[in-house]
Amino acid sequence: MSQSPDIKITAEAPIRAPSSVPVDDAVLPFEVSALDLRGRLTRMGPALDDILTKHDYPAPVGKLLGEAIVLTTLLGSSLKFDGRFILQTQTDGPVSFLIVDFQAPDRLRAYARYDATKLKDGQDSGTLLGKGHLAMTVDQGPDMSRYQGLVALDGGNLEDAAHEYFLRSEQIPTRVRLAVGEEWRGGGEGPKHRWRAGGMLLQFLPKAPERARQDLDPGDVPEGVERPEIEEDDAWVEGQSLIATVEDVELIDPDLSGERLLYRLFHERGVRVFPQLTLRAQCSCSRDAVSAMLKNFAAKDRADMVKDNKVVVTCEFCSSVYEFTPQEAGVE
Ligand SMILES: [Zn+2]
Repeated sequence: MSQSPDIKITAEAPIRAPSSVPVDDAVLPFEVSALDLRGRLTRMGPALDDILTKHDYPAPVGKLLGEAIVLTTLLGSSLKFDGRFILQTQTDGPVSFLIVDFQAPDRLRAYARYDATKLKDGQDSGTLLGKGHLAMTVDQGPDMSRYQGLVALDGGNLEDAAHEYFLRSEQIPTRVRLAVGEEWRGGGEGPKHRWRAGGMLLQFLPKAPERARQDLDPGDVPEGVERPEIEEDDAWVEGQSLIATVEDVELIDPDLSGERLLYRLFHERGVRVFPQLTLRAQCSCSRDAVSAMLKNFAAKDRADMVKDNKVVVTCEFCSSVYEFTPQEAGVE
């Protein structure tokens, strides 16, 4: 005998079957209220492919930057203002620097710096990053304060770093899954390569705050004092075991809709979805902005930039090329 668990959804919105239409380049917020879980699911196709293809990255670098982009959409899409969320890493591995810039409500741009001579077969994301740190900056505009969160990277991947960040800084029990893949589809001119990605963020947000603390490390305890035995909340144990069953292929499958994936995971408890946010790859660079940046350089540095009687600036995010005459670049 089984009861219909969907009755537990006390939403204003009517209960309906999950849509089977896949939507790419979107973040789908959801809630499993029976377990006090909230989350977001990102699926990316053309926008991700646009960013990664412009740079022609080696596959492992593209995959790592793709993971950073998905993580950024999972974190940045919760911004409720016209702000900016910037995720960057600075490390000693083959990929020494990467940056993802999300401008609310939907604009994304990103790039990575890497040393091709240090790339080897079989390096995972943690090895590609190496040791260093990950910084997340929330910029709410010129009149607002900037907020920056820092997490050490120590050979782990971006999922590990996100868990660490939420545990230490936000004190919210959180699990993150990230997946990036390459798809080859047949076409008139032979198979076409495309990047795809998906990710999920799951957080335990019970109404009683003492329940949320159960997952958290009690911190340092005086010597001789036993660490309190912390029993994890059943709802969070269940949430973690459910997200652990999500396979990479499910996160990136172009034919599996996000709603169907959520339903597959949480149908026994009932899951409610909220309006999705769409994403697009768009750089915010412009000739005016580059020109203004040039004016900030010292005169000598500007003079050093002149080659073949012109100053050429390439945007690292989108590879757009801006050309200036020495006069336009402010070189006397
Ligand atoms: Zn640009």
